[in-house]
Amino acid sequence: MSQNLLEVTDLQKHFPITAGFFKRQVGAVKAVDGVSFYLKAGETLGIVGESGCGKSTTGRMVMRIIQPTRGKIVFDGQDISRLRGRALRDIRRKFQMVFQDPYASLNPKMSVGETIAEPLIVNQVLKGRQATERAVQLLETVGLRGGDFNRYPHEFSGGQRQRIGIARAVALNPKLIVADEAVSALDVSIQSQILNLLMDLKSDFNLSYLFISHNLAVVRHISDRVGVMYLGHMVEIGPKHSLYGEPLHPYTQALISAAPEPKRVNRRARIILQGDVPSPANPPKGCPFHTRCPRVMDECKVERPVLQEVRPDHFVACHLHR
Ligand code: SF4
Repeated sequence: MSQNLLEVTDLQKHFPITAGFFKRQVGAVKAVDGVSFYLKAGETLGIVGESGCGKSTTGRMVMRIIQPTRGKIVFDGQDISRLRGRALRDIRRKFQMVFQDPYASLNPKMSVGETIAEPLIVNQVLKGRQATERAVQLLETVGLRGGDFNRYPHEFSGGQRQRIGIARAVALNPKLIVADEAVSALDVSIQSQILNLLMDLKSDFNLSYLFISHNLAVVRHISDRVGVMYLGHMVEIGPKHSLYGEPLHPYTQALISAAPEPKRVNRRARIILQGDVPSPANPPKGCPFHTRCPRVMDECKVERPVLQEVRPDHFVACHLHR
């Protein structure tokens, strides 16, 4: 667990706002505004934050489903930020995505066996009987029966459908899986089964995960390191135990204090944030969190804090920690 599989530097996604007959650009929604992080081989990096913080857009840029406005994505030693065509299709075999809604991501007209075998056939890895046998194997690997091969997605429960999505995602032996709210739509008891499956597959298939979720408990369960995003910025990132045990950023402190964790003994007093998250079309100057921060200072309103290492491998962007 030493080499970086993924390095993201100053990643931005600004969606243009246009107006008038000629669709002139009059502004931009800064969905992601300069995010940097790395992911070591064999590691799980969780990315957490409220809805609209830019975490899913970040994941989709890493997957190259969305083209970044600016910034660099280096995957497995190769700059993939601007790859197109054949080169992009080739590298895509090495990273796959697991989506929130497994039903929407499965073709209802294909049997689940065909769904899992499809990437093997399209990428000319296996064909015919061999592809079928591998799909049966994969069904069993994710806890379903090989006999389910000819059944259709609507015949399965939500958790089973997510298992099918995961089987398809690992079919090409990828190095990285980006899981975007992969268990959010499932019942709590099923969530832990799917998380445990992902953790088992990680060692079996030598995977790394970028695990995106709004749920702090879920991210804590599965991650080695965790990054916290707010309004398009990474405000804190560090090893799980350091970040959850002693969060440094006031936003992280508020999120953790509000998370329902009945078993925790030394529960911190709940911090209730005032106001709404500002619009990413008109983000505040200085610290993006200053309009809601209980510890805001004058300098926070003019000067944007940058991520700095405060503890080993634990970075925070806040003027309280310099
Ligand atoms: Fe709060 Fe200032 Fe730190 Fe931003 S920089 S989180 S406003 S104390």
